[in-house]
Amino acid sequence: MESLVEPSVRPVWEKGAPSLAIVVPCYNEEAVIVETAAALLAALDQLEAAGRASVASKIYFVDDGSMDATWPLLERLAAEHTRIVAVALSCNRGHQNALYAGLSQTSEDMVVSIDADLQDGPENIAPMIDAFLDGHEIVFGVREKRETDTWFKRMSAEGYYRLMRGLGVDLVFNHADFRLMSRRAVDTLLEYPETNLFLRGMVRELGFRSTSVSYARRRRLAGESKYPLRRMLSLGWRGVTAYSIAPLRAITLLGLIAGGIALALIAWVLAVKLFSGNAVPGWASIMLPVLFIGSVQLLCLGVIGEYLGKIYQEVKRRPRFHLREIVGKGTPENHRVR
Ligand code: UDP
Ligand code: MG
Repeated sequence: MESLVEPSVRPVWEKGAPSLAIVVPCYNEEAVIVETAAALLAALDQLEAAGRASVASKIYFVDDGSMDATWPLLERLAAEHTRIVAVALSCNRGHQNALYAGLSQTSEDMVVSIDADLQDGPENIAPMIDAFLDGHEIVFGVREKRETDTWFKRMSAEGYYRLMRGLGVDLVFNHADFRLMSRRAVDTLLEYPETNLFLRGMVRELGFRSTSVSYARRRRLAGESKYPLRRMLSLGWRGVTAYSIAPLRAITLLGLIAGGIALALIAWVLAVKLFSGNAVPGWASIMLPVLFIGSVQLLCLGVIGEYLGKIYQEVKRRPRFHLREIVGKGTPENHRVR
């Protein structure tokens, strides 16, 4: 899965162990957060002991406007551990924005994004770093097995990646948001101005040298999925509208088909009238095309409206998130925003 664009300077690491930032978006994760922090701290210790990451490495937890005890727990963790930074957004902005907010706070040489429920095991960070040290700037975590996900989740994800491929969008199959990025890749990503974030598409577009690491997805540590069907559909549709205009083209096709059917029906009605002498048989032949064409028009307006809505949101250039508080960044005084 090498990217086609080979950067002119091959960024092979030569300066000793690079520093690592782990970014963890959290929304109502009180059930897992303490255990996750312990697991990630242990992972950092191991990575440092093996010379893969420097002692300047940090973990950034981003509280995405949680309504449970996630923030107090994060504050405590940041106060207890110098390598934990807790960032709070002003309100719930969604996974993609929370992740982006976390990325914007990092300054380390490598940045790994990972979910708070540890479904994507931290032990996979080591091979990701090895790939980075080999000169790859983006390392995608690819879910080889996801037996612990529900049947519906697996099927819908599979169907979605196929749909996106069919629409001509270049996504890494079965990669969500567990990945490693170089400082340069993160800084480049942070230059993208769009409000509607679909990070797995944007990162793919950066074009830096990339590879992937396969792993088996685990069960959620505790708590419930924060991606109910509504949110999954919303993220999926965002991916389609952000990266493809195929649905707009499909509308034209649909219009042509509907027009063709309508013409055929008109010809048939005229033929019945002229050659058989009978009256037009029943109201069905009138009502069916009216209903059919009406529904096609509504559908088309809906799809156009979706794109128009996205354009409207983008032209406003509104900030993707507002930071409320940062704890644990900079010593000895904890740095606090507002
Ligand atoms: N998340 C978030 N904001 C939201 C929803 C989810 O920051 O509005 C985080 C959540 O805490 C988790 C990650 O996004 O760290 C992925 O969510 P989850 O594990 O619930 O999704 P799933 O694995 O079921 O797709
Ligand atoms: Mg999860």
